[in-house]
Amino acid sequence: MNEALMQPPAALSDQAGIDTLVYLASTADRMKSEGRPVINMCKGELDLDTPDYVKEAGIRAIRDGETKYTSIAGTAALREAAAEKLWAINGLRYNPDEILVSGGAKQGLYNLFRDCLEPGDEAILLAPYWSPYMSMLRGRKARVKVVQPCEGALKVSAETLAPALTGKTRLIVINSPNNPSGQSYSRHELEKLAALFLRFPDLMIASDDVYEATHFTGIPENIVNVCPELRARVLVVNSFSKSHSMPGWRIGFSAGAGALIGRLTRIQLENTFNACSISQAAAVAALRGPRDYVDALPGLLKARHDRLLGALDCISGIRCTPSTGTFYLFPDISGLYGKLSDVHSDLEFARYLLEAHSIAAVPGTAFGLEHHIRLCFTIEPSELDQAIAALLETFGP
Ligand code: PMP
Repeated sequence: MNEALMQPPAALSDQAGIDTLVYLASTADRMKSEGRPVINMCKGELDLDTPDYVKEAGIRAIRDGETKYTSIAGTAALREAAAEKLWAINGLRYNPDEILVSGGAKQGLYNLFRDCLEPGDEAILLAPYWSPYMSMLRGRKARVKVVQPCEGALKVSAETLAPALTGKTRLIVINSPNNPSGQSYSRHELEKLAALFLRFPDLMIASDDVYEATHFTGIPENIVNVCPELRARVLVVNSFSKSHSMPGWRIGFSAGAGALIGRLTRIQLENTFNACSISQAAAVAALRGPRDYVDALPGLLKARHDRLLGALDCISGIRCTPSTGTFYLFPDISGLYGKLSDVHSDLEFARYLLEAHSIAAVPGTAFGLEHHIRLCFTIEPSELDQAIAALLETFGP
């Protein structure tokens, strides 16, 4: 293991971001390799296997020699299946030539950031945000404004956002359901945001929908559903990482107006060309196959969410807004600071959890919102029991 990764990053107390994630994950790995079992609540993936019919399609693709380059934008089969899915499941009309298949949602987002941001351009992130957005934006040398959520809501309202938007803002990212907060925007909230975005014609909107299948109450609304006038300025980004537990296959797709998809395809030509041909074949099976696997996710995740939330609600000093999707809870833990002598921040709380209870969890600072901790509950049920027991024993009533 890289020794440098095992040291706390120098900037831990100010710009934690992705370095903190790397530090905690690598420290947890080291503890495990030393025989100290760690409950890894830092994860960003399901604990389920990819469905068999999807795996079989990947194996078949290898056997059938589907191992050559595909078109940069993806195979016709996958682009058609993605367009049909967007219409049937999301009520969004895109033609297959308005779809770009990429190596996961991350590459889709990266393509967009490359396209619409020149060094010095302004971009807006809504806290809490998935940390890699920040590193990707920094890579583009963008000037990033972080808008903090409304008090106690973990979401930004159009009113709070309005003063941050200017004629120079080129990009905003909407991630609903959100990693790490587990919150999603309602139709009404999206309508108000859309009305604001309509006033800024040079603003591009990334709709990061990767957690859509984890939404506890059915498919969530997307900003293009509520405001079709914005369609030309929105890139809808999705992937199979969460919906079919395929993060290692690196496969996702973006949907947008033809001209935008054309530009993003040229960017992808410069870096990777097409997404993996085998993963593309597997993704077609994921979209065309039975939906039982995807349909079971919300119930499965909600049951775990409720167990963890029930325990957190018993702890005075923790305030936790119930999630509406994802596999995370994001409690405010600032009320615990006085109870532990060396803990005065979420960063110190994350270290305390790891060192005292062997629980790895990500501090809110890494997502642009301090005093919170992200707890991922896609762990073994016995581990979830242990984590709950440790928290209740230390802080419980
Ligand atoms: N967006 C968010 C909010 C995420 O949490 C993740 C992965 N954890 C991604 C995008 C990237 O997904 P993919 O694996 O499809 O690149």
